[in-house]
Amino acid sequence: MSADAPTVGVLALQGDVAEHVRHLESVGARAVAVRRRSELDGVDGLILPGGESTAMSRLLDVYDMYEPVAERISGGMPVYGSCAGMILLASVVLDTRADATWFSAIDMTVRRNAFGRQVDSFEADLVVDALGADPVRTVFIRAPWVETVGPDVEVLARVRASDGHDHVVAVRQGNALATSFHPEVTDDVRVHRYFVDMVRQSTS
Ligand code: GLN
Repeated sequence: MSADAPTVGVLALQGDVAEHVRHLESVGARAVAVRRRSELDGVDGLILPGGESTAMSRLLDVYDMYEPVAERISGGMPVYGSCAGMILLASVVLDTRADATWFSAIDMTVRRNAFGRQVDSFEADLVVDALGADPVRTVFIRAPWVETVGPDVEVLARVRASDGHDHVVAVRQGNALATSFHPEVTDDVRVHRYFVDMVRQSTS
């Protein structure tokens, strides 16, 4: 492990792994795909990518990775969940399968596929607290939103949805970061830089 180039894993059971690896490398991290426990043991931080949260939940179980990842998260390893990954970090998940499991790393209730069918996917320019005044181009793909947060959760961004309300779409609690959107599919690497800085701080 090196504080300058921390090793950051991307959970690679399902979802958009390569895009996260590319962004991590471009902000100076060593990026590794994580499929098994030995790979998890070598990382300083972990990204849970977008994909399908119910499928990822099942695969975490099938590959005996649920407990090891949960242990690392509760041990303080920085973790970032994007879209389906956000769902896996929530404490309460609405509109999911009865047999789905998640990590309860952030005190928040999220609703899957919350933006509704008519706007399954959309983009928006959002100011994200902690990333400066320049808006981030955000891409939402069958995304969740955050319905409620606990007192220790920092809200970093909201987006106006077609219901006319602003909904929370980026949060941080301690070493856990989550966004409803996919920064890995744009050229803007600020979310990844912010997360890698969290990892550097936790290893220094
Ligand atoms: N709708 C997906 C889920 O519930 C998330 C979509 C995504 O990650 N792009 O897991």
